[in-house]
Amino acid sequence: MLDLIIIGSGPAGLSAAIYGIRANLNLLVIEKDYEGTGQVALSSKVDNYLGLPGMDGYSMGEQFRQHAVDFGVKFLEASVTELKQDPGDKHWIVKSSDGSENEAKAVIYAAGAVHRHLGVKGENEFSAKGVSYCATCDGAFYRGKVTAVVGGGDTALDDALYLSGLCEKVYLIHRRDEFRAAEITVSKVKAKENIELVLNSQVEEILGDERVNAVRLVGGRTLDINGIFIAAGSVPVTDVVKGVAELNPAGYVVADETGITSAPGFFVAGDVRTKTLRQVVTAVSDGANAATSAAHYITNL
Ligand SMILES: Cc1cc2nc3c(=O)[nH]c(=O)nc-3n(C[C@H](O)[C@H](O)[C@H](O)COP(=O)(O)OP(=O)(O)OC[C@H]3O[C@@H](n4cnc5c(N)ncnc54)[C@H](O)[C@@H]3O)c2cc1C
Repeated sequence: MLDLIIIGSGPAGLSAAIYGIRANLNLLVIEKDYEGTGQVALSSKVDNYLGLPGMDGYSMGEQFRQHAVDFGVKFLEASVTELKQDPGDKHWIVKSSDGSENEAKAVIYAAGAVHRHLGVKGENEFSAKGVSYCATCDGAFYRGKVTAVVGGGDTALDDALYLSGLCEKVYLIHRRDEFRAAEITVSKVKAKENIELVLNSQVEEILGDERVNAVRLVGGRTLDINGIFIAAGSVPVTDVVKGVAELNPAGYVVADETGITSAPGFFVAGDVRTKTLRQVVTAVSDGANAATSAAHYITNL
């Protein structure tokens, strides 16, 4: 039996793996994406991680993963589909999409979060045909074109700024009249001549033929666009842990920075945990803490 299974190889899972292996734990990381490194890979530039200013997120993720590989961490490429605790000695049984069943004394759940959908007409129909959830991934396809960004937080405003450097014009559609983003980012957005703020507005329908060509807002105003970037927040990935540990009303696994959850031997780290700041630096910190908690738990078994 393994000491530890880590689910997810984003910054939290990889940091947990490094702390776990240095604590001499026999561990396995299960990750559903091919050599996945989590959401950080979607960031065009990570400017707020200490000591690595201006690094693109893809390279940062690769560097994190290589660190784990160099330390001898073993990976399984599969999606975890079920988690349960043995009623006898309370070890954990982890079933994955490849049919494998791995057993460990403890689990660290670091499955992160995914983009929230608007749930409006046309959104699914035009997905990858003008509807995108990642400006840094798809923005270059809209060079010289007109796009819209939906949202009012840091991601939305960052996306609008990024796109303003590529597109002829960017509409920033937000349902309120104030943004939740950092003040410095709001100032930068307001200073951009080719970003038009469309405030107190909600998307009713995304329109098009083969591809997106317009967006209709509640109230009837229609904006002609070539693409729309949805940046309406994220939702925790917790389907497989419902009933395993306590979740808060928004679906995040309840734990403080120790990563200790309501279920013995089940720890949580990164964006999927209850916390206020979801960033690379806090995910990495969570991974270190959760692995340390897991090592103590295993020692005391
Ligand atoms: C566009 C964008 C830009 C960002 N820019 C910055 C920035 O500039 N600075 C910054 O600090 N932060 C930034 N962030 C946030 C940062 O990327 C996240 O806070 C961080 O990646 C969270 O790490 P994590 O390990 O908790 O989760 P994630 O990065 O979400 O990784 C979770 C991993 O778990 C895997 N997984 C999920 N479910 C399963 C399953 N059932 N089985 C197996 N594997 C599974 C996923 O495939 C994924 O690889 C950005 C995020 C985005 C989306």
